[in-house]
Amino acid sequence: MGKKTPQAIRGTQDIFGAEAEAFAFVVETFERVRKLYRFRRAEMPVFEKTEVFARSLGETTDVVSKEMYSFDDRGGESLTLRPEFTAGIARAFLTNGWQQHAPLKLATHGPLFRYERPQKGRYRQFHQIDAEIIGAAEPQADVELLAMADHLLKELGIRDVTLHLNTLGDGESREAWRAALVEYFRAVKDQLSEDSQERLEKNPLRILDSKDRRDQPFLPDAPKIDDFLSDEAREFFAVVTSGLDAAGVKWKRAEALVRGLDYYRHTAFEFIPDEGSASADALGSQSTVLGGGRYDGLIENLGGPATPAVGWAAGIERLAMLVGERAEPAAAAIIVVEDNSQAALRQGMEALTALRNHNLPAEMIATGSPRKRRDKAVKKGAASIITFHETGHGISGDDDIDPAIFEALPFLR
Ligand code: ATP
Ligand code: MG
Repeated sequence: MGKKTPQAIRGTQDIFGAEAEAFAFVVETFERVRKLYRFRRAEMPVFEKTEVFARSLGETTDVVSKEMYSFDDRGGESLTLRPEFTAGIARAFLTNGWQQHAPLKLATHGPLFRYERPQKGRYRQFHQIDAEIIGAAEPQADVELLAMADHLLKELGIRDVTLHLNTLGDGESREAWRAALVEYFRAVKDQLSEDSQERLEKNPLRILDSKDRRDQPFLPDAPKIDDFLSDEAREFFAVVTSGLDAAGVKWKRAEALVRGLDYYRHTAFEFIPDEGSASADALGSQSTVLGGGRYDGLIENLGGPATPAVGWAAGIERLAMLVGERAEPAAAAIIVVEDNSQAALRQGMEALTALRNHNLPAEMIATGSPRKRRDKAVKKGAASIITFHETGHGISGDDDIDPAIFEALPFLR
């Protein structure tokens, strides 16, 4: 009877080699940039009580109603694998008393889980980098957060992706806009998609977000938030946009951008590849790479005090697709032990240690047929090959051997 190997779970990925290097490059660049902007690191659990997400995000959102991996643990408690970071961060903020650090600039990254239809750029386990500023009501916080996102994309070498920016107004503006949208869409209810008919009562803003063909004809003439903004909300948005201009962040007004979750107020944004650009090609229809906004109501939903906050998250896989494959870093030197003598092996090992102690990436080949060892080293493409045999040593490679190698191994001079 043949043994069958179990397959990976649908919608998960095993990432290796040049693609894994791209993934690591995204994370390393994020780490560098978040330090530049002085965001502090946090690590949260991968699972939380289900209510953390249900209460933060709202029961009517796609994420909560359709996409969560929830299960009862052996003690009968309903737990959920995190589908996003913000709710868990808000929970941690409250249960650890992080209020004392407010305004708190936080950064994290890691895996997330959503039960979605897998396709290119959309997985059931995916990864995000995430940045939040908690306990800051002022529009400068939005600018800081967006400047960091823009800087990160530039450091990643992604230049054909633009910030699409909207305001959803304060609670009052949003309510007035919402009422107008309900009235407008109710008049054409029968012609809307089933999803949007359902959204009409629960979450009408999200109709604007619809990709369904049946909804498209009604979207351009839908009421605009600008007609409902309070003076304060308008002023808030003006400070955000002038701050972005001062920081050199290019942006585009996107009046229909609402984002999927209930908790957003004021600023909402997405970074989207420019039409016809290489990044747009690379991502296909899964085009948003980074999204977020201000979520002034979320922490209250979790039973905390009113706490203004703003944040974003970006898919690491999607960013890695835009970065493209990255070469695996080359070795500065490869040591070849040319025979099976104790003396050569010992000297090779000492040299390998010295190279690494001098911060030179190196590895050693000392197994397999002695005749083939040098060929193996050449294949690995190191700048230099250092050989040891029972009675001597040698170095070969590029015309100019890195002086750092001679510093690590002076006897080679
Ligand atoms: P989408 O409209 O693509 O479903 P979303 O609004 O659900 O995105 P967010 O919850 O804002 O996405 O997550 C922020 C980012 O995380 C997205 O812009 C995307 O880059 C990434 N992302 C979201 N869901 C997935 C997924 N299933 N697989 C891979 N990346 C994802
Ligand atoms: Mg989604």
